[in-house]
Parts: sequence; C-alpha cells; structure tokens
Amino acid sequence: MISTLIATALMMTTAVSGPVMRHDGDTSAARQRYVMVIHGGAGTILKSQMTPAREQAYKAALEQALRSGYAILQRGGSSLDAVEAAVRVMEDSPLFNAGKGAVFTNEGKNEMDAAMMDGKTLGAGSVAGVTVIRNPVSAARAVMERSQHVMLTGRGAEQFAKEAGLEIVNPSYFYTEDRWKGLQKVKAMGAGKTQLDHDSAVNKPSSSLLGIENKDHKFGTVGAVALDQQGNLAAATSTGGMTNKKFGRVGDAPIIGAGTYANNATCAISCTGWGEFFIRLCVAKTVSDLMEYKGLSIQQATDELIMKKVPALGGDGGLIAIDKDGNIAMPFNTAGMYRGSITADGKVEVLIYKQ
Ligand code: ASP
Repeated sequence: MISTLIATALMMTTAVSGPVMRHDGDTSAARQRYVMVIHGGAGTILKSQMTPAREQAYKAALEQALRSGYAILQRGGSSLDAVEAAVRVMEDSPLFNAGKGAVFTNEGKNEMDAAMMDGKTLGAGSVAGVTVIRNPVSAARAVMERSQHVMLTGRGAEQFAKEAGLEIVNPSYFYTEDRWKGLQKVKAMGAGKTQLDHDSAVNKPSSSLLGIENKDHKFGTVGAVALDQQGNLAAATSTGGMTNKKFGRVGDAPIIGAGTYANNATCAISCTGWGEFFIRLCVAKTVSDLMEYKGLSIQQATDELIMKKVPALGGDGGLIAIDKDGNIAMPFNTAGMYRGSITADGKVEVLIYKQ
C-alpha cells in the first residue's frame, strides 16, 4: 500500500523553475524575481467529486489571495506583508479549514493554529489552540514582532492578540454548517477517529507508529510563501487542524521547522498534511537543511520529504516552497492540492488536481 502510495506520489510533483523577468528595465536580480505561492490544503480532491460551481469558487478564492499578496510585492512591499495578506483572505473564506470555516474538535469547538516566519532575521511567531482571534495568522505575526517569544497558546495567545489590537470575535463566528456536519460524520465512524479536511471516504492504512486509525483523510490548511523585491523570503501557515481532534491537540502548522519555515539562505516553506508526521520529520526545516548542507535544489529537497520520507512513515500531504532565487516547488502525494502561484509579470496559475 505504501509503495503504491509512493509510486503514485512520484507522478504528482509540480515544480516550476526559473525567475520571471520584469520588463521595466530594472536589472536588479531580486527585483526581477519576486513571486508568491499559496496553498489551500492537500487531500483526496477528485474532479469526479467536484461541481463546476464549487471548483470555480475555490479557484476564485485562491486567485483573490494571490492578487492581494501580489499587490504588495509589486509595489515593493515586504514578503511578510504579502503572505499575511494572502493567508487572511483564505482565513476569511469559509472554503478553507482556517479562520472562518475551521473544522471542529471532538468537543464541538474551533481551535486554530497559525505561524509566520521571516527569512531575513529568522524571526518567528506562532499561536496554537486559539478560539476567538478572527485572523490567527496576524496573531502569529504579532507574537513574532511584538513579543520576546516564538509561540503562545490558548488563553495567553488570545489575551496577547487582544492587547495587540487584533480583531476578537465570538467563537460562533467560525461556525459553518459544512464543518459541523463533517464532525458528526467523523464521530459516527467511532471513538477516537480524526479526519483532516478536503477528502472523500478513502481508507488509509492505519499507522502502527501512531496507534491511530485515520480513515477518510482530509487536509485543509492554508499557507503562503513569498520572495519580495528586496530578496527576502517569508512563510505563513494557518489551520483549524483535524476534524474531531482532541481538544488541545496542536498540529505541525504552528511548529516552526515542522509546518512552517523561512530562511533567506535557502527557502520558504508552508506545509499541509497529516500534521503528526510533519512534526516528527521536521519537514520544513529538513528541506532547508538539505539545501544548505547537501546542496540539493528546491525540487530535490521537497521531493525527498513529500515523495519519500512522509509516505514511508505512513503520512501524506504536500507543501509549497520558494527558494532564494525565486524557483518554486509544490509537491504533494495526495490526489490533489489547492495551490497557485503569481510571478513578477502578474501571471497567475491556479491548480487543484495533479497535472
Ligand atoms: N497539517 C494540519 C494539521 O495537522 C492539517 C492540514 O494540513 O489540513 O493540523
């Protein structure tokens, strides 16, 4: 089963190389290669199970997120501002498992995680298990820029966000009927089952390592990575986690080096997938290390993790990545991943299924 998974996965890598030149006479390499890549989660996303209207809605939301980040990059703004703006658009959309539309815990609540990292300074911030912050990605940024800490959880993170002037909402803001029904469905599968977003009923192998039988597998995290005109990389990730997760469970998204990482010397990474595996493999930082210490390209390094290490351990998912030269990679080992890129010339590409 796992070898089938790996074989299938090997056919699904998407990588695009090469900077895109601006035609305004600016010869600075950094100014010519600014770029942003986003994802809205990987999983068993099959065209056969998608209506044209729903597909169009996803594509429009992804394009809106890309354009909001691009507007910032184009006018010379920072990659940090760009990834925050793009992720906020997806957090505000009920289509994605982040912010409005986040999945429910076993207790019937929405507990969200988010992270942001600055490739220039290696500054990082994250929040976990937050329930009242409208845009968790902005709280992660506030932790990075306005505290001496990297990670705040629960009540402490919420208090901090409030004091930082971020928008606080009633937990009912995050409710969507789709996700509520999703929780009831997973609960009906039996005690202890969890589910990640964006999947149909597909039986996955149980993980003897985790002791979790995880059927009907879905991932719906959102993320963005960007390279700005100053040559600075940034990464951001935001998620509601897994449907029916235990309250208090924290995934890979807010763990720096697991689901999120950025370093101007190497790359910026945002992951989506079965978080427990991404944490145990320190996926995002390992990609960076493979580039820094072994000289691998962004495509080789991301393939090593997503096409080999993660499936070999029994996990699945994908990631988006940009290297310091503006090359991008978007590998995933699931049937699909909501994803898109926008290059310096304003060319938008939005993809859902494997190509
Ligand atoms: N990685 C996320 C988590 O485990 C889930 C996802 O990608 O949707 O919390």
